[in-house]
Amino acid sequence: MASRNQRRSTDGEAQAMSSGHDPRGNDSDSLDEERILSGLETRWLGRDLLLFDRIVSTNELASSLARKGSRGSVILAESQTGGRGRLSRSWESPPGGIWMSLILEPDIPLALAYQINMAVCLAACRAISSLLGLKAGIKWPNDILIGGRKVGGILMEIQANGERLEYAVVGVGINANIDPSPFPGEWMATSLSQEMGSSICRTALIQRILLEMERAYESMGSEEIYDEWRQRSVTLGRMVRISARSGEVVGEVVDLARDGALMLRINGDLMRVLEGDCIHLRGLERK
Ligand code: ADP
Repeated sequence: MASRNQRRSTDGEAQAMSSGHDPRGNDSDSLDEERILSGLETRWLGRDLLLFDRIVSTNELASSLARKGSRGSVILAESQTGGRGRLSRSWESPPGGIWMSLILEPDIPLALAYQINMAVCLAACRAISSLLGLKAGIKWPNDILIGGRKVGGILMEIQANGERLEYAVVGVGINANIDPSPFPGEWMATSLSQEMGSSICRTALIQRILLEMERAYESMGSEEIYDEWRQRSVTLGRMVRISARSGEVVGEVVDLARDGALMLRINGDLMRVLEGDCIHLRGLERK
């Protein structure tokens, strides 16, 4: 582990930081491993915490550490140069955000892997809502929205051996203290600082996210998680367009199934959708 006031860079050289001063500005919001650990209330998650100034992708490093047997570790970076979303789409990760990946070893069969996504999406919303008082919702399947705008996303990557899950890497990207205005308008992005009108304490939010994730992960698969995940959905009740490998459909989301599937009504017929890109269309807005 790098010692206090040192940070890793991916090329292996630890960068000395002068007495905790962050050259990018806002001292009070600079990330520091010891500060995060000192207020961390988790029992096991993130007890091994690796903080980088800049990294290609926290998920990429987490996956390579997971292959070497690391479990429970959390990789955190001030910025990512090659952050990824689903289907290798890029995820903009400028300084000021929360870009982190968790290495988990779920004791569940591959067929239940959707439970991890459900638990961690819910945990991210719970953390944002309880700490900042913002109403965070889940846009199916993995986006975190505030007021209809995207504030973050979850990217889960799993490794299985037959029906057995070996590990899961959960990437969490939150636009915390960043200005989303340079992003293309069609992303409909926002940030926590924009929503709050001032910057937030990332250290406190990281600690809360990890605590909520540990709790939700430990009760993964429960009715409580499913019910609240469903309640937090901003996709339920909406008209959506789903683009999947099998083609494109438009319908109304009448329910969310226990296995995470969207239940779509299309011209009076019900259809289950387990994967795909989801676009919210206008009309039939529930929230
Ligand atoms: P989707 O939102 O379609 O499910 P992903 O979850 O894979 O897609 O996220 C990648 C997409 O999110 C990118 O193609 C881009 O449209 C958008 N995006 C990238 N970076 C950010 C960011 N920091 N904040 C909000 N949206 C972003």
